[in-house]
Parts: sequence; structure tokens; C-alpha cells
Amino acid sequence: TGIKELLLSRIRDVADYPTPGVMFKDITPLLADPAAFAALTDALADLSVRSGATKIVGLEARGFILGAPAALRAGVGFIPVRKAGKLPGATLSQAYDLEYGSAEIEVHAEDLAAGDRVMVIDDVLATGGTAEASLRLIRRAGAEVAGVAVLMELGFLGGRERLVPALDGAPLEAL
Ligand code: 5GP
Repeated sequence: TGIKELLLSRIRDVADYPTPGVMFKDITPLLADPAAFAALTDALADLSVRSGATKIVGLEARGFILGAPAALRAGVGFIPVRKAGKLPGATLSQAYDLEYGSAEIEVHAEDLAAGDRVMVIDDVLATGGTAEASLRLIRRAGAEVAGVAVLMELGFLGGRERLVPALDGAPLEAL
């Protein structure tokens, strides 16, 4: 298919960002191209519909940009998973380890419940820590994981190996 080439052609490599030695994958050229953004949105929505998802969770911040239009297209609700301290209502929180230190993400407790099937959307799967923590949040809320869908997987960081056991048979799709 041509979609992979189209998407890849709109991702910019930025050397030494955010720290020396890191090659950052910048998706802003893709967002600025309506044909590429539409193709990505359609592909993410299609994966969600085919997985039987009843809700889409987007991971802050670029997971919001990709997940929200995909949710509209799929006809399901969009649920933001945010960094700790940003959501005003009662939340569930999940801490996870980073290379140096730790991080915490949250979801509004009332946004997910038993009976929901949730597709997690983000731009990049790196070590898999963020996505894995989101799966814990979803299950702690009583909901079921439909899968994880990302634009891009940085294979050398081992995110897939980390995430697959946590997915418990649900798919990990990298476009
Ligand atoms: P992980 O938890 O898998 O190590 O990191 C994934 C998170 O960090 C995602 O939310 C993603 O947006 C961000 N991230 C890590 N590396 C990159 C990158 O090279 N490009 C972009 N756009 N995001 C990245």
C-alpha cells in the first residue's frame, strides 16, 4: 500500500532532541498535510472499528491530536489520559518507571467502566512504558483493552516486547 510511504515521508527526524544522542521523530509535517493526516485518521479509525472498540483513549499530548479525529470518524467517545494533575474530576492514577525517575498518568474514573472496549492511540511507541501504564488504568477502571494503535514503533527500544504480555492477546498495530 502507499499509506506507509506517505506517512513516513511526512515524519521528520530531529537530531539531539530533546537531549543529545536522541533522534526525535517529529510528526508536525504530517499534521500540516491534510491528505496524510486524513489517511492516518482513517487508518486509526478503521483499526478501532475492526477491533470492536467502544471508546478511544488518547495519550497526552500527541495521542490527543491523533485519537480525537479517529474517535469522531469511528463514532466512539474520546477519553483523554493525561499527565498527573491536569484532570479536574475524580481520577485513577498509574505510576510507571522512566529511564531516570518515574511518571504518572491519570484518567477520569467516570469515563471508563465495565462493558467498555478501549483502543489506545498514540503517535510513537518507544519503550512502551506509557502505553503499558494506560492498559493498567483501563483495566483498573473495569474496562477491556481492544488494542493499541500507534503511528510509529521505534523497534530498537523494545516497546513491543514490553507491551505484548500486557496486551493479553489484544493487538498492537503500528502503521
Ligand atoms: P514510551 O513510554 O513508549 O517510552 O514513550 C512514548 C511516549 O513518548 C509517547 O507518548 C510519545 O509521544 C513520546 N515519544 C517518545 N519518543 C518520541 C519521538 O521520537 N517522537 C515523538 N513524536 N514522540 C515520542
